[in-house]
Amino acid sequence: GSPGSVLEVRGLTLGYGRTDAVKGIDLDVADGAVVSLIGANGAGKTTTLRGLSGLLRARSGSVKFAGAEMAGQSAYKIARAGIVQVPEGRQVFANMTIDENLRMGAYLVADAAEIQRRRQGVLDRFPRLGERLQQLAGLLSGGEQQMLAMGRALMADPKLLLLDEPSMGLAPLFIEEIFQIIRALKAERRTILLVEQNAQAALEVADHAYVLETGRIKLHGPAAEIANNPEVIAAYLGAA
Ligand code: ATP
Repeated sequence: GSPGSVLEVRGLTLGYGRTDAVKGIDLDVADGAVVSLIGANGAGKTTTLRGLSGLLRARSGSVKFAGAEMAGQSAYKIARAGIVQVPEGRQVFANMTIDENLRMGAYLVADAAEIQRRRQGVLDRFPRLGERLQQLAGLLSGGEQQMLAMGRALMADPKLLLLDEPSMGLAPLFIEEIFQIIRALKAERRTILLVEQNAQAALEVADHAYVLETGRIKLHGPAAEIANNPEVIAAYLGAA
C-alpha cells in the first residue's frame, strides 16, 4: 500500500437497488491528515462515508484500514477498529440528555475512569455542552447539536473520524466555530475525512482533497492545488 496511509480505498463500489452511487473509487487518507471530499449534491459523498463505516455494504472493492480489510465487515467491527462517523444532520439522541449522548459515544469502553477522562476532554473542548449536561439534546440549536455529535464521536477516541457535512444548515458563527474545532483536531494530529458542500472552507482546512462527481473521483491532490484548479473554482468556489 501507500506509505503512511491509514485508510486505503480501492475500487469501492456502493449503491442502492439497481444503481451504483459510488463507482469504483480509490482514496487514501494519511495518518494524521485531514482529507476533504467535495462535490455537488448527489455526487455520492454521504454514500462513500456510509460505505466506509459499514452502514452500507460494499458491492465491490477494498477498504483497508491500518492494514486490515474492512469491506464486508459489520458496522460494529468497523467502529471497534476505530472508524467513527458523525452523520449528516447530526442525529443526536433527542430524548436523551447531553451527558447521556456523550456517554453513548463510549459504549465500547468498559473502564469508567477512561470514560470520565474522555468526557472531561470533550467538555474542555466544548464548554457550551458542559454548561447544560442535563438538558435534552433535542432542545439544542443546530450548531450545538453538531458539537454534541462531534463530542459523542470523540468519546470513542476514533482513529479515523468521518465528518458528514458538519457545517450544513448552520449560522455563520457556528460554521466558523465548527471549522475552528476541526483545525484544533488537526493540530492534535487526528485523522479526519471531511465531507463538505462548503468547498472553500473544506479546502482551507484540508491537507489533501478529492472531488467526487456522479460517483467517480474527478480530481485529487494537495488541497491548495485543488483550490487553485480552474475547473474547481468554476464549479465549486464561485466565479473564476
Ligand atoms: P448530498 O450532499 O445531497 O447528501 P451526496 O454527495 O452526499 O449528496 P449521496 O447522498 O451519497 O450524495 O447520494 C448519491 C446518490 O445516491 C444520489 O443519486 C442519491 O439520490 C442516491 N441515494 C442516496 N441515498 C439513497 C437511498 N437511501 N436509496 C436510494 N438512492 C439513494
